[in-house]
Amino acid sequence: MLGSRIAIVGVGQVGAAAAYAIILGSIATELLLVDDNVSLRDGQVCDLSDVAYSCNSRTRVRAASHHEAGQCDIIVITAGSRHTIGQTNLEYAYRNISIVKTIVDAMTPFKSDAVLLVVSNPVDLLTSLALQLSKLPPSQVLGSGTYLDSMRIRGMLADKIGVAAKSIDLFVLGVQGESQVTAWSAATIGGVPINESLSKEDVINRSDLSNECKHRSQSIVRAKGATPFGIGSVVSSICCAIIQDKGTVHPISHFQPTLGCCFSLPVVLGKKGVTRKVQMPLSFEEDAQITDSATALKAMIDQVNN
Ligand code: NAD
Repeated sequence: MLGSRIAIVGVGQVGAAAAYAIILGSIATELLLVDDNVSLRDGQVCDLSDVAYSCNSRTRVRAASHHEAGQCDIIVITAGSRHTIGQTNLEYAYRNISIVKTIVDAMTPFKSDAVLLVVSNPVDLLTSLALQLSKLPPSQVLGSGTYLDSMRIRGMLADKIGVAAKSIDLFVLGVQGESQVTAWSAATIGGVPINESLSKEDVINRSDLSNECKHRSQSIVRAKGATPFGIGSVVSSICCAIIQDKGTVHPISHFQPTLGCCFSLPVVLGKKGVTRKVQMPLSFEEDAQITDSATALKAMIDQVNN
């Protein structure tokens, strides 16, 4: 869209892959890259500008400060530290909490209608903190949450049953990671509930598929050290839905007032971020599992705040 600006804060593996996808799709007029590592940032600007030139993208790339990033239409936070050997999950979380606090602080005050998209892990915890710190309205602070997991499980199921992933509505919801929930009870294929649409020959072990989806990122990290391309493509899709005011439904981490934290449920995305929430009828077990993990997340947020 003409005149639109996206900033990516943290242009390591994930930030660069997101930038690459945004440039290929000409999603924004200007793409601002921010990183504490200035040499890396400037290298990425040159390399990614070559992408824009070679594919006739309408997106122009430049280096920027944290403050400039805060004045963009969408700010994507992909900054973080890598898990180091011997570091516990909690130590890793605290390191990224401190990074996100510094970044949000340096960008405040934000452009009043900016949408903040958190990708760094642990994504739901950091989205919840970014909401508190940024002072932006809840509808404008999002996390990539379980979007990638939802796309992944649709693709895996599609490959097994020979139906295009686009015709499958299956959502992974809740707090992203070990406790995320695949909402099989609400799944449809071509609009028909999955229990009715699958034939006897379609032998699908739902629990195996959910577990494989959940653990695929870990196996990618073990094999190649990072998971940039899948999430990069998801970031570009989310930015596109916002900038083009698409009104499409996506599982996105956003604030849930009843539980006091951010996690993924389906929402409609448009220019203002979340434009409405979509009520999805879940089974009792799915609902309870989501509530339990959100309650644990809220306890951790309270611990971080004290
Ligand atoms: P990376 O180490 O390659 O890149 C991180 C970048 O952040 C580095 O270039 C570093 O210099 C920069 N950075 C650190 N502090 C900064 C600051 N204050 N301001 C600006 N930049 C800063 O790591 P990566 O592989 O690109 O992963 C980035 C984050 O994305 C990690 O937290 C990772 O866990 C997360 N991730 C999330 C998902 C998801 O589904 N939500 C998927 C993959 C990765």
